[in-house]
Amino acid sequence: MSEILVLVEHVEGQVKKVTLELLTLARKLGTPSAVWAGPGYSPDAKARLAEYGAEKIYLADSADISDYVVAPKAELLAQLVSEKSPAAVLVAATAEAKEIAGRLAIKIDSGVLTDVVGLQDGLVADQSIFGGGVNVQSRVTKGTPIVAVRPNSTPVEAAAGAGAEEQVSVTVSAAAKGARVVDRVKEEKGARPELTEAAIVVSGGRGVGSAENFSIIEKLADSLGAAVGASRAATDAGWYPHQFQVGQTGKTVSPQLYIAAGISGAIQHRAGMQTAKTIIAINKDPEAPIFELADFGVVGDLHQVVPQLTDEVVKRK
Ligand SMILES: Cc1cc2nc3c(=O)[nH]c(=O)nc-3n(C[C@H](O)[C@H](O)[C@H](O)COP(=O)(O)OP(=O)(O)OC[C@H]3O[C@@H](n4cnc5c(N)ncnc54)[C@H](O)[C@@H]3O)c2cc1C
Repeated sequence: MSEILVLVEHVEGQVKKVTLELLTLARKLGTPSAVWAGPGYSPDAKARLAEYGAEKIYLADSADISDYVVAPKAELLAQLVSEKSPAAVLVAATAEAKEIAGRLAIKIDSGVLTDVVGLQDGLVADQSIFGGGVNVQSRVTKGTPIVAVRPNSTPVEAAAGAGAEEQVSVTVSAAAKGARVVDRVKEEKGARPELTEAAIVVSGGRGVGSAENFSIIEKLADSLGAAVGASRAATDAGWYPHQFQVGQTGKTVSPQLYIAAGISGAIQHRAGMQTAKTIIAINKDPEAPIFELADFGVVGDLHQVVPQLTDEVVKRK
């Protein structure tokens, strides 16, 4: 089986869920090899990668890789592509990894596909474009395909791989040291789960009405152990921070349950949540487009419905 390189996304030594998705996808196409770039590798990380099918783990854990912005990772992948001749390189469709993919494509003279939501035999990619309104199938026709896959587009499945480690030494070029990382600020994290990885997401839109009113969305989320999301109308109004925006220009979520309160269901919002397993909409307008997508709908004023729902959830716990 041909080797598929998977660039690992990790934070403080923890492998991110999207990497497990990429490994799951890679297993369908060939033999996955994880590429660990930067410090933080640990036996736990190895166990996690092997659990999801990494046959090999290429380790480039020097600080040089992470001390400079993006370019060293592209050089590392270019070196591995030239040494190992993999069938494809998979990265997450995050802002950083898409830039790595673009730089890698130039270096190895290959085609790159971004915002991919599925991969079929022959490395035919399903791409979700125009804000999720259109799906197209695409294939790289030149060089080693580089594919950036959207987080939360693939269900993860464990299947053990050998996890054989291989140290890779990379000499980062002077050109790749053009932009040094001078500081890292840890984002304040509350008790809620990470939005893109949460099993339940409760989102509020313009119908919430104000920043203060978002507390009712937060209370419902906390009663369910959920993450809080918001529509762009709500984040643009300054009612909720931008990093919680769900949609085409925000985060893509794919939880088991998505509750949309006071959100109309614009195509750009749907682009970020339409793969949720169950969708519940709360909206006072029975004609709101979100109801076309919803599995369950409540027509009513969210300021009454949401607190009542929270009370019921709390009572039943
Ligand atoms: C290039 C581009 C990118 C975009 N990216 C995104 C994106 O990433 N994410 C995103 O969300 N949007 C995005 N948008 C904006 C998008 O088009 C919509 O404008 C936005 O999603 C609307 O947000 P909303 O549903 O909260 O507001 P509205 O469309 O104004 O809907 C508010 C809803 O709340 C309901 N409501 C009002 N009061 C109550 C109440 N008391 N109780 C119950 N229901 C109530 C109303 O009936 C209505 O359906 C983008 C737009 C563009 C052009």
